[in-house]
Amino acid sequence: MEKHELWQAVLAKIEPALSRPNFLTWFQGTGITEIAGGTATVCVPNGFVREWLAQKHHKTILHALREISADIREIAYIIGKPDRAAPSDFLKTRILRRKRPPTPAAFMPDEMSIIELSVNPETCLNPRYTFANFIVGSFNELSHAAAQSVVKNLGTTYNPLFVYGGVGLGKTHLIQAIGNEVLTRHPSLKVRYVPSEKYMGEIVDALRNQQMGALKEKYRSVDLFIMDDLQFIARTEKMQEEFFHTFNALYERNRQIVISSDRPPQAIATLESRLRSRFEGGMIADVGLPDFETRLTILKTKAATKEMALSDDVLRCIAEHVTNNIRELEGALNRLIMASKLSAAPIDAEAARKIITNHAAAPKKFLSHKKILKAVSDFYDIGEKDLIHHSRKKDVVRPRQIAMYLMRENLKTSYPAIGDKFGGRDHTTVIHSCEKVAQDLLINPELEEELKALREKILLT
Ligand code: ADP
Ligand code: MG
Repeated sequence: MEKHELWQAVLAKIEPALSRPNFLTWFQGTGITEIAGGTATVCVPNGFVREWLAQKHHKTILHALREISADIREIAYIIGKPDRAAPSDFLKTRILRRKRPPTPAAFMPDEMSIIELSVNPETCLNPRYTFANFIVGSFNELSHAAAQSVVKNLGTTYNPLFVYGGVGLGKTHLIQAIGNEVLTRHPSLKVRYVPSEKYMGEIVDALRNQQMGALKEKYRSVDLFIMDDLQFIARTEKMQEEFFHTFNALYERNRQIVISSDRPPQAIATLESRLRSRFEGGMIADVGLPDFETRLTILKTKAATKEMALSDDVLRCIAEHVTNNIRELEGALNRLIMASKLSAAPIDAEAARKIITNHAAAPKKFLSHKKILKAVSDFYDIGEKDLIHHSRKKDVVRPRQIAMYLMRENLKTSYPAIGDKFGGRDHTTVIHSCEKVAQDLLINPELEEELKALREKILLT
């Protein structure tokens, strides 16, 4: 039997004993990569899943494996990707065969049904962000109109264009749409999109490799420069300095600059005044929250592109419950589409409500920054405030580094965002902390034990 089939058979044995969300959480993206000398090597997507399988499901997996292949005596768990990712197809067919309605897919990642088009390596634009699929309502019409105007009058009318608004409200979509549209109209123009986090990483690398000249050239030679999430740059003077020079070089030659941020320039406390006044000289436009009718329009439009009929009632139900942002609207829609594909009968409003409210509750039961902070502070017996703020006591430094490491590892939080959770620390401090813990792990088995215990604690918190 092939590795792939063997693992399928093992999953088939394990699955009935677990709830569907549980099964999905721990077995999605797993596989067998090798069988040699009585050991089956099982690959898992991350360290967290590895710990969990090794501790909680090891016996069941070994038992299931041995029932099929008696020579297997041990299992090694490694982090990696299977040659053939199977669980999701496997899950679909299994569940359809079992003909029972699936429990709400509380832990199912939204990305599963989002088709990502490939990002252009030269411009870093994602072609999926266009004006054609950008829905306009009163909440975003100002920034949309400004964006349209920028496309038509590149570098002349609104320069820079500064778009701000909360998370998931369409800033990235809109500013990338500008880039894509400009390229469609003028293929010979040079466009570059960069999230500020990436930009800062490039600067750090260029400084290390003494290639600042090339980096300056890369950004200063463009016709349209799009910088996403500027708020992170304001944290360090050095980054602002570099950005300021690039900004000026472009501005003086009437090259268009487009910037997004989670708040307006005057609300970024650490933003240098010379940059702030430059931004104020251009156009500042906000993106607000869509109202109910707009949310419904967004859902209808998105549902129509997904070749999946969901009733009006169901869409209204989503629009009523999901009010925060458009990303969550899309997530809820994808979850319902997935659920209705998996169930034989169409989803009605009541089922939709359950799925949505269950999902909203699920992550809280699961993992969060708060839980990590709480677990770490309980574990090391230090106050959460000390952990977060600028206490330099030695016994606080290490737990803080560990908390940062756990956030990065388990929640995939960006370095600047972790810095935010710790009283606005710089992202380079966070990177350093995470690397420090990763290095210690290599030489210190006790730390491994500590982390193991901590992860358990987080789950129980
Ligand atoms: P932000 O950058 O403000 O956090 P994004 O641009 O990443 O938000 O938007 C989140 C998701 O919502 C994306 O998938 C995006 O395509 C979608 N979206 C946001 N605004 C709109 C809109 N006005 N019309 C259609 N889709 C939108
Ligand atoms: Mg964004």
